[in-house]
Amino acid sequence: MIPFNTPPFVGNELDYMKQAIEAKKISGDGSFTKKCNALLEEQTGCGKVLLTTSCSHSLEMASLLTNIQPGDEVIMPSYTFVSTANAFVLRGAVIVFVDIRPDTMNIDENLIEAAITPKTKAIVPVHYAGVGCEMDKIMEIAGKYNLLVVEDAAQGVMAYYKGRALGSIGDVGCYSFHETKNYSMGEGGAVLVNNPAMYERSEIIREKGTNRSRFLRGQIDKYTWVDVGSSYLPSDMNAAYLYAQLEKADEINEKRLASWQKYYTAFESLETKGYVQRPIIPDECRHNAHMFYLKVRDLELRSDLISYLKSNGVMAVFHYVPLHSSKAGERFGRFCGEDKYTTKESERLVRLPMYYGLSDNDIDYVTEKVKSFFGN
Ligand SMILES: *Cc1c(COP(=O)(O)O)cnc(C)c1O
Repeated sequence: MIPFNTPPFVGNELDYMKQAIEAKKISGDGSFTKKCNALLEEQTGCGKVLLTTSCSHSLEMASLLTNIQPGDEVIMPSYTFVSTANAFVLRGAVIVFVDIRPDTMNIDENLIEAAITPKTKAIVPVHYAGVGCEMDKIMEIAGKYNLLVVEDAAQGVMAYYKGRALGSIGDVGCYSFHETKNYSMGEGGAVLVNNPAMYERSEIIREKGTNRSRFLRGQIDKYTWVDVGSSYLPSDMNAAYLYAQLEKADEINEKRLASWQKYYTAFESLETKGYVQRPIIPDECRHNAHMFYLKVRDLELRSDLISYLKSNGVMAVFHYVPLHSSKAGERFGRFCGEDKYTTKESERLVRLPMYYGLSDNDIDYVTEKVKSFFGN
């Protein structure tokens, strides 16, 4: 049986977790959290990175940092995870969904402007599969209409757009370290605060609305409740697990990219014959092999392929059911313009096993089974 995913494990995780426990610092903001923050700041060039309890929570922090008020509108793709929308719905926002580009499955930057109204407050690009959205255009629109940009870079750790780390381009970026992502701490994430005007408030929101972070640095002699907030800081034990992986981030990334490339090369012939389409990576993007997917003719064929692979011991999966067609999506949002690609492209996409430690033999096996499904 070849699983769809197994959580990454590089070897030093247990030792580092033991160190956190022995240091008697298992709550938040211990030495491993600080080391992770510093390492991520260095790697992304972002001025302030803070580990959080999840990307969902990073998005909630972003929604507080952007001061979303009831009735405000937030623009995002419908082809995304529920947390992208929930974070803003929790503050009373109306979600305005925009169609995606069929090549990258990312928000179509050319459709954003038509979705802007006087109530629009923010744009939330989602970097699907670690492939960057067209950020130059998105930032230009945001500048023109005075909107804030929150990047859902849950899948984008160690990926770049025009040389800039995903998550480091908008006002706020959000990473996930869930076990299904490239680097993991079980459940966890990070918030990248790129807008210096939000630095101090990000610490406060993450520390239950208190100025405890300044107190711990000795900048004030007692701490108090100063703003809204919640508990968004993870245990240092989880940070210790993550730190082991961030130290080996390049190695993990290279291995994933090699697996991705092996799939990509192997499916060239099927694409030439017109059976499948392989992912498209625009020139300005350096991806991180978060995912390897194929697109087949339609929903029916995809279901057959998934069942066929399953009966041959390969776990392949489909991905998001577009949010605008869900019960909550209908209630909390609206689709702006025509759904030309969101539903159609999502229905024909299938994700193949992809994780750190996936062997070449397994990739060969998966490839062979997909090819035999199509009758070669
Ligand atoms: C995984 C994911 C999330 C949620 O991440 P958690 O850390 O599990 O909360 C949000 N958005 C996208 C696009 C994701 O892939």
